[in-house]
Amino acid sequence: MYSNLFDSHVHSDNSHDGEHSISFLCEHAQQKNLMGICITDHYELNLNLDQADICLRNSFMETGRARQAFDQRLLVASGIEMGQATRNIEKAESVLRKYRFDFVIGSLHCDRYMDDYAYVDFSGLNVELVLQHYYEEMLELCQWGAFDTLAHMTYPLRYITGQYHIQVDMSQYRDLIAEILRTLADNGLGLEINTAGLRREISQTSPTLEYVKLFRDLGGEILTFGSDAHRAQDLGAGIECAMDMAKEAGFSYFAFFKKRNPRMLRLL
Ligand SMILES: [Zn+2]
Ligand SMILES: [Zn+2]
Repeated sequence: MYSNLFDSHVHSDNSHDGEHSISFLCEHAQQKNLMGICITDHYELNLNLDQADICLRNSFMETGRARQAFDQRLLVASGIEMGQATRNIEKAESVLRKYRFDFVIGSLHCDRYMDDYAYVDFSGLNVELVLQHYYEEMLELCQWGAFDTLAHMTYPLRYITGQYHIQVDMSQYRDLIAEILRTLADNGLGLEINTAGLRREISQTSPTLEYVKLFRDLGGEILTFGSDAHRAQDLGAGIECAMDMAKEAGFSYFAFFKKRNPRMLRLL
């Protein structure tokens, strides 16, 4: 049992696929005895952003109000999950200048050749090529590096393996993935252990222990944990498992972020 659970990856109804308001999420987080949460609504740089800009503004303002309302009871941080940022770096950087986020998640939900993997029919596709494109773009994203943590590093496997039951030999990407993790470590960026997969058929975190250890071996110091909850009942889900995994990989601390700076907490 841990007493300092912080869920750094939470979606509200300001995300197209989120169900609950920020105040409702905060009420639930407090009931679950979480120490804090970070609201990280989607902002997908490969898409038209007119609607997303409105949602982002709402998300940021509502998070600020919740922070004040829940003062002393729950830490409420304001964040963003930036998808495919290198497709529109100018816009990504202007958003980061405009809002004073506590925390920025860098993520990839697709590659340059297809839609979000959540909506792709993988049967008959060359999944090895899909993953090659995915990790090549992820390396570019990390070289850009204007975020705080890299989200769900094995996201396509949620669908390729979890949903379509296609087995992939991941060893062919090991050098590329090591380069990604080394780039994060060298630039003082974090790696997320995303627990959403524990609630899905794939039944594993993203990434798994093997990559968390590799990150550590390559000098990585900053780990964040995220349930990727899109509804209140999933808040904090699997975070204790992620904490156990972090310890097993040799970490003594994890991080949450305030004003883009990591606050290190002991894995107690
Ligand atoms: Zn995501
Ligand atoms: Zn997410």
